[in-house]
Amino acid sequence: MSRSEAEDVVKLLEHQKQTALASKHRKGQKATNKPTRQMLDFSMAQHRTPLTTATGAGMYSMRTCVVSFAYPPSTTPLKQLQEITLSQLKLETNHTGKALIVRTFDHPLRHVATQNIVEDKEVNVDRLSVYNLDPSMPPETILPKGAIFAIKQPYYKATADGGYSVRVDHPSDLLQLDVENTLVPAELAPRCGVFQEGGHSGEASLRFDLYRNRAIVNLYLCRYEYACSDALVSLIPDSFEEAGDRREGLNSKALYRAGRAEYHLENFTAAKNHFEQALTLTPEDGDCKRELQKTKERLQEETEGLFNFTAISNLVNAKRNKVDHVSYLGKVEVRAGGVCGRGLFTRCDIKAGDVIMVEKGFCVAFSSEAGTETYRIMNLNTNRMDSGTHATRLFKTVGKLLYNQSQAKRLLDLSDGEYTPKCSAHIFDDVVSVDTFQTQAILERNGFACADVRSCDEKEDRKDKLSSSTGVWITASCINHACAGNAWRSFIGDLMIIRATKDISKGSELLMPYAVVEAENNKTQDSLQKSWGFTCDCSICAAEKKVSSSHRTQCENITKEIDTFLTDHKHSTSARASKTVINNAEKLYCRMKGPYTDELFQYLPCVGLINLSLWLCTAYSTSSSPAKVIHAAITVLRDLGYEVQLTGSNVTIDRTHAYLEPTAVHAVMYAAQACYQQGKRDLYAELEEIGKEMYVTFYGELRGFEKTYGAPKCFAETWCEGVIGVGAMEEKRILPYTYTVTVS
Ligand SMILES: [Zn+2]
Repeated sequence: MSRSEAEDVVKLLEHQKQTALASKHRKGQKATNKPTRQMLDFSMAQHRTPLTTATGAGMYSMRTCVVSFAYPPSTTPLKQLQEITLSQLKLETNHTGKALIVRTFDHPLRHVATQNIVEDKEVNVDRLSVYNLDPSMPPETILPKGAIFAIKQPYYKATADGGYSVRVDHPSDLLQLDVENTLVPAELAPRCGVFQEGGHSGEASLRFDLYRNRAIVNLYLCRYEYACSDALVSLIPDSFEEAGDRREGLNSKALYRAGRAEYHLENFTAAKNHFEQALTLTPEDGDCKRELQKTKERLQEETEGLFNFTAISNLVNAKRNKVDHVSYLGKVEVRAGGVCGRGLFTRCDIKAGDVIMVEKGFCVAFSSEAGTETYRIMNLNTNRMDSGTHATRLFKTVGKLLYNQSQAKRLLDLSDGEYTPKCSAHIFDDVVSVDTFQTQAILERNGFACADVRSCDEKEDRKDKLSSSTGVWITASCINHACAGNAWRSFIGDLMIIRATKDISKGSELLMPYAVVEAENNKTQDSLQKSWGFTCDCSICAAEKKVSSSHRTQCENITKEIDTFLTDHKHSTSARASKTVINNAEKLYCRMKGPYTDELFQYLPCVGLINLSLWLCTAYSTSSSPAKVIHAAITVLRDLGYEVQLTGSNVTIDRTHAYLEPTAVHAVMYAAQACYQQGKRDLYAELEEIGKEMYVTFYGELRGFEKTYGAPKCFAETWCEGVIGVGAMEEKRILPYTYTVTVS
């Protein structure tokens, strides 16, 4: 984002905040000049644009979702609340202890909120706006025409267009009522006879059918906990003789549904038991056999960490980025201690490059996904604004929590930055009371930016894709920050793969950089402070803090010169850098090296040197001897904190202080090719292995390695034999990338 765009964003946020504060002056007032039924009808027709069918991008200007000033959701059962009518509502007031019962009388529409117009028992009318629901849910399923709703603790407010609206921020405050519900006023739903649970066996049989059928409805609605309990309640006992021959078939069906629900809740042992039990009743059930097989595979992944990442990667694409796989967390545990009181620790030794854990996303909003629209989300409570999939991520997460209490508790366990009051995720009126403000606070602190499809596809142009996908991975969120760290994440679909960037011993805390480490340390600290509310005190930052102020000023000035130099002298395959230009780069490098004294940075990464260091290595690779290239490559690695030595046919590499980024892979591969040119095949092979391992750690899989680094073996072979000239070689040469990593 440019400086002027950033200023505009700040202005917009400030304007929204002032508007919200100004409207508070009307608190407690009665609404005047309320629109009539005809006016509301007209305004609905005006707003009815084809938004629900559009993909969003490019067709409409970006919409803004404002996270208003926080208040908690209702935690009182509906029948204990006192009824209130539309005419009694006061502006900018949260009517605690009250419930409004209304009937919708138009077709709903959706902008940022889902809206409809409603009438109450006094035949008064107004607008109802429900926020924070999954945009992939059609508005007709949220506020259908002619349905009756109870709104707990209704919030009534004036709208920008001069009208008014009953606003629901916590979807758990909105309940759709059956016409049979005794709380529905007769004026809204004339009743004609009430279904009573009787003692006849015919009714008992009907009840089993109803539960069994409701289980499948709940499965489709992703209300897995309800689906599972409905399915199990619908099991017909042996003593119920009336069911006769049908009993086994029906119970198998119910067990199958319970199994599917448990599968979605990632309770694979329970799922397996249900499927196996179903198969004892109907041994030839093909669906059940297939689900059982899948469940066994998940159990194996979960307990043994056996994944075929290539196969998984081959199946993901922009339309199918949610993979049917499970988390593997066997090598890690969350416990007290570490850099900030609680963290994720290893339960065994882990070697550099090995998988530490694999985690399936708890909730991921892919930018390519249907129903994902680009919003700005402005949080007036935290003065934070994000654009991209952040709003969709909030809506999806809220949707997941509303009907799955165990999932809500998992998410609420994460840091919310001291948000108060805490939500306890209790169930009232069959809905989990989800505090959307607290949920947003948790997402802001624990979200990750991720690849749209897979990390290795995003090597280039990453900067243009910053507004892309985001999600939450609960266990990975427990990993604390360190600029260099010992772990790195990559993505295949919604699967996050975390690998070790260095050898890690049993019982160590896992640490991962949250954001890009900048050449100027105060920028790194600023971004950490703004996004997560802390500053870093890792070994790199501790050394940076000790840099003298004169050295710091020197660094800042040279950093600007380096940036200009790198912009002006991009490497190209058609033109080599001249001797003078290389000479200038060398001088610039020496000047920048000055402030990175051995006293402070002897083994630590020198972040400000990395890009220029790689530029030099690339320049030498087209114009200098292999020995010089190797030396330059080792210098790049040294600037990244790797201590590398090539002795005889051996590579020794000390990664204690290393900072892994793609530059490291480039440097290793430059060194590898130069070794090949010198005829040192053993060194070449060893370095190539290291390069591949770093690449896989960074991108999650080897896909794209050959394409990026050519086919080094055959290419080096032909080059050494002098079959093709330097010009032809350059086409296949390694191209340096400048790359930054950004975390939401
Ligand atoms: Zn740090």
